[in-house]
Amino acid sequence: LTGTPRTSAPRTGTPHTATVAAVPVDTRHWIGGARVASPATFTDHSPIDGAPLAEIARGTAAEARAAVAAADTAFPGWAATPPAERARLLHAVADGVDARAEDLAAVETADNGALLRSHRRGVLPRVAHNFRYFADRLLALAHDDFDTRGHTNHVTWDPAGPAVLITPWNAPLMLATWKIAPALAAGSTVVLKPAEWTPLTASLLADVTHEAGLPPGVFNVVQGYGDEAGAPLTADPAVRRISFTGSVPTAHRIAEAAAAHLAPCSFELGGKSPLLVLADADLDLAADLAVEQYDNAGQVCLAATRILVEESVRDAFLGRFLDRVAKLTQGDPRDEATDIGPNIHPRHVDRVDGFVRRALAAGAKAVVGGGRNTALDGALGGKYYLPTLLTDVDQDSEIVQEEVFGPVLTLQTFPDGDDDEAVRLANGTRFGLAATLAAGDRERAARIAARLVAGTVWINCFYVRDLSAPFGGSRRSGVGREGGDWSFDFYCDVKNTVTAPKGWAEHG
Ligand code: NAD
Repeated sequence: LTGTPRTSAPRTGTPHTATVAAVPVDTRHWIGGARVASPATFTDHSPIDGAPLAEIARGTAAEARAAVAAADTAFPGWAATPPAERARLLHAVADGVDARAEDLAAVETADNGALLRSHRRGVLPRVAHNFRYFADRLLALAHDDFDTRGHTNHVTWDPAGPAVLITPWNAPLMLATWKIAPALAAGSTVVLKPAEWTPLTASLLADVTHEAGLPPGVFNVVQGYGDEAGAPLTADPAVRRISFTGSVPTAHRIAEAAAAHLAPCSFELGGKSPLLVLADADLDLAADLAVEQYDNAGQVCLAATRILVEESVRDAFLGRFLDRVAKLTQGDPRDEATDIGPNIHPRHVDRVDGFVRRALAAGAKAVVGGGRNTALDGALGGKYYLPTLLTDVDQDSEIVQEEVFGPVLTLQTFPDGDDDEAVRLANGTRFGLAATLAAGDRERAARIAARLVAGTVWINCFYVRDLSAPFGGSRRSGVGREGGDWSFDFYCDVKNTVTAPKGWAEHG
């Protein structure tokens, strides 16, 4: 989706800064503590109204090589920096994020179209928290000594080396910083390649790290398209870790590149998660949880897009759900009153609409939505898709099996009391990222939860997440886990030093 380069001829004299939401942004790469241009640029557009925002440096293999070399050169010094100093610098980065939170929120909303109110109140505080959490985690690191037949085992977490981090457009700064923070805390150095549809906050973060005093080369940003700038980063033999959040097809390509130099990979990929509504659930809560799946215009990997309702409460649930959908306001994400903003890009909206059109042609019914929001099309550039719910869908149909990544939910039912069928439907895709249950009986909920294939199961809640908890997906939804020790360990080479009681020279 995002990998297709638009041909843009090298432009000499292209300005290296843009002003977005009244914030100046340097649109070049950040390599070795300096701004670096590329021979060509590409245009970044706002999903809000399609307006061009900035000309961004279009990275090539040369800049990718330079960034990895900078990270490699900086690595020994950063790895040897005492933990207390590394932690101090990460707290300084968090302070910088807090100080620039308004700018970062405004630029992120202009660039990816997610709600400004969510960026202000939810995302930016968590971005700063990502740095603080891992700074504190580093200081709390317990050296694990234990004995084997009189020999001491001394376990240490050695920094692994340069890490390449590749991130998607749906939550750009948030997803980048929950990789950057543990990598830097662990003593690894970083090259970040943000998504080409949302390059701007990564560039501002480079300024923040610079102002916080991070040494040159410890944090680098390469801008550009996946195949031009991302691929050479993952193929560089000096890279010791690759952490990727994005789509399954890209993960395959990255895994192939990493195989050549055996760089360990962490993959956070797509999902097609279920929301199970059991007959004894609080149906108002269940309806609230269902409507929450339209958050970020459905562009959330965790979204529970397949609603599975126990037959006897289908109509009662659906009525409550439709009441709530009717109250949603769609529009400009900068407006505090807006609940659903635009989708990211015209090509992406075409893709979302393609899924819906094919589902309708195959017999699905749109109980609500089912197309673009034509009322907003003219005024705001045509990237607004109506919150949609499709019924009459088969378990093996495309709309139930494939990730749409838009505000499109499906509704299926299962016979009352048939937990086996509920679990069969819930687990019946190639994904396994998350699952949500609305239930009244704790024991039944626990029995069903235990049988679900998912990295996270939420019961009577959604999206609640502690940074120390594991996060990730099973099956095609990912490889490995992020969060807490799982993230921290990934960026380390864990080492055990075994010391014998014998053989020591006696002194004095
Ligand atoms: P994508 O795979 O198209 O792109 C993601 C990133 O990979 C971009 O920065 C892109 O430039 C880069 N890339 C593309 N080709 C590359 C290559 N050959 N080598 C190196 N890098 C390359 O994904 P997207 O469309 O940006 O993001 C949407 C997907 O991300 C969805 O599937 C969504 O579910 C998933 N996602 C998962 C999580 C999670 O935590 N599991 C979170 C958010 C998004």
